[in-house]
Amino acid sequence: MKVPFLDLKAQYDSIKDEINEAIQKVLDSTAFAGGPFVEEFEKQFAKFCGCKNVIGVGNGTEALWLTLIALGIGEGDEVITVSNTFIATVEAISFCGAAPVFVDIDENYYTMNPELIEAAVTPRTKAIVPVHLFGQMADMDPIMDIAKKHGLFVIEDACQAHGAEYKDKRSGSIGDAGCFSFYPGKNLGAYGEAGAVVTNSDELDKKIRMLRDHGQSKKYYHDIIGWNSRMDGIQGAILSVKLKHLEEWNSSRRKNAGLYNDLFKDTPGIIIPKAADFNKHIYHIYALRVQHRDEILKLLKDDDIHCGIHYPVPVHLQKAYNPTIPAKGEFSVSEKCSDEFLSLPMFSELTEEQISFVVRKIIKAIH
Ligand SMILES: *Cc1c(COP(=O)(O)O)cnc(C)c1O
Repeated sequence: MKVPFLDLKAQYDSIKDEINEAIQKVLDSTAFAGGPFVEEFEKQFAKFCGCKNVIGVGNGTEALWLTLIALGIGEGDEVITVSNTFIATVEAISFCGAAPVFVDIDENYYTMNPELIEAAVTPRTKAIVPVHLFGQMADMDPIMDIAKKHGLFVIEDACQAHGAEYKDKRSGSIGDAGCFSFYPGKNLGAYGEAGAVVTNSDELDKKIRMLRDHGQSKKYYHDIIGWNSRMDGIQGAILSVKLKHLEEWNSSRRKNAGLYNDLFKDTPGIIIPKAADFNKHIYHIYALRVQHRDEILKLLKDDDIHCGIHYPVPVHLQKAYNPTIPAKGEFSVSEKCSDEFLSLPMFSELTEEQISFVVRKIIKAIH
């Protein structure tokens, strides 16, 4: 039995007619860059997130970057985030000229540890960027309290958390803005690159709309220096189709995670993912923690079970950041977890047989 990490083809096959029809409509209308198909998706996604405004952009990295720029963050400013994330979170901070300041993660949930934030606040701090890692939202109440106390913006990196909830609030709807990626492998994935910013602020909405389209207030009238980060019409149309299935896909992922959890229950040497009881985890990634991870990964690959590591090197130890940021030992939970994380196959079409096969092989590999 072969178990892929992800099966985008199985998902496409299940919605092929709807998708092909939606793409054909865009081709017939020639609304390729921005336009009505993107606007329709923006409207639907706003409803889904329980948020007033959605701005479709080129990808998740630019969603983060343009949001930071729109909030006036730049040279001389500091932005607090986590090292245990995909590097894009941190690149967006660097690319607007600000300095990333890391805090460690919580050992149970792998998201920003709110108890460590205040010690990282300085007079230069402008914003906090919590990352809703693996599909579980960070502990937002204390983060929002600290932000309020110190007058900081909060930008949620929701790139792995489409539809995740914290105390019944959807990801992206709590901070000043939420940033999403629709990279093909995300829970809501385009058939190419795409991203979005969600915000309840009309002012921020207006600014980001201008920034994503060369700072235009109207065609060829450029009020600010912007960028080109428009979403493709084809991606907008595809995302509108796929959004209708997202709740169902997320519940299948939650069911699959539950099955993994039951089958692994109390297995020595395996730490299964925990979801805080106020959180609705949507399992973008189902990550175990194990010792001797690399050997286990190799044994599984020999069995045709394809796992992943998210992420093998925390950002503060990446070559790109190492000379500027404290060295090894500074963020010990992030470092320990990056040595132990093992992401198992996780997608909504995964079968019970595949799950029990994976579990059997992992338990065998460990003992
Ligand atoms: C995927 C991802 C991004 C970047 O999104 P792209 O669309 O690939 O640019 C940013 N942050 C996190 C946590 C991600 O998982």
